[in-house]
Amino acid sequence: MFKKLSVIILKFFIVALCLTIIAYSAILLLFYQRDNWFNDKFRDSFSYYPYLRTIFKLHDFGDGKGDYLNSKKFPKLLVEIDSLDGYELSSKAKEEIPEDLQEICQKPEDIEIIEDDTIYDDHLSFTIYEIEKLQKDYRNYYPQKGQAVLYIICLNKFADSPTNIGTTTQETSMAIFEGTISDLPNYKDNQLLLEKSTILHEFGHLLALDHSESPYSVMSETVEVVGREVDIRTCDFSEEDLREIEELREKYY
Ligand SMILES: [Zn+2]
Repeated sequence: MFKKLSVIILKFFIVALCLTIIAYSAILLLFYQRDNWFNDKFRDSFSYYPYLRTIFKLHDFGDGKGDYLNSKKFPKLLVEIDSLDGYELSSKAKEEIPEDLQEICQKPEDIEIIEDDTIYDDHLSFTIYEIEKLQKDYRNYYPQKGQAVLYIICLNKFADSPTNIGTTTQETSMAIFEGTISDLPNYKDNQLLLEKSTILHEFGHLLALDHSESPYSVMSETVEVVGREVDIRTCDFSEEDLREIEELREKYY
């Protein structure tokens, strides 16, 4: 009798395990494919929780927007910055970035910047794969209860797209390419504007914003690449971008 019961329990566990594996794989696939009903309906609900993002591999830009826009669940925002030796952000940018982020995030607590590691590496440029590896090695802070995190890694150049001066890497991280910025003409006069506009542009992507058609928005496609005239470069979001951010804040959080 006991032996029979054990076999039934064992069978039950094997079936439950198989069903769990099948369900998990199916959800992973649906999120990976993106263009389907399940993804449209459930991606935001899943990505709202940092641990579910880890379990279901939700690391695209936009997946971490809840961390930044929900100030009840995440009253604090910490910005961790790691830099390749010689390619650090200007001190003025580090001073002004928290204020710019605060205007969007409206966190009840101050935004804290932690300048963390100096990276020693003799690569002349980095691919996205190499950037993600550096991030894995050097990033120390991840979202947790009460605290959202923005991770910024400052490097020299982007091997995958050498005209880019910034890119998002995962849902709460971005890379800025100081080597590309410093190659621009008159960069010393415009360094602060270039750094701030690029960081805010990438941050806009982390909030799920797409490129703006307005050339006077920080979300204009040309902000993150070289070649844009500096005199129309801006750190301001357009009215439409701001409306979209407010809608997200109200809709999901
Ligand atoms: Zn962009």
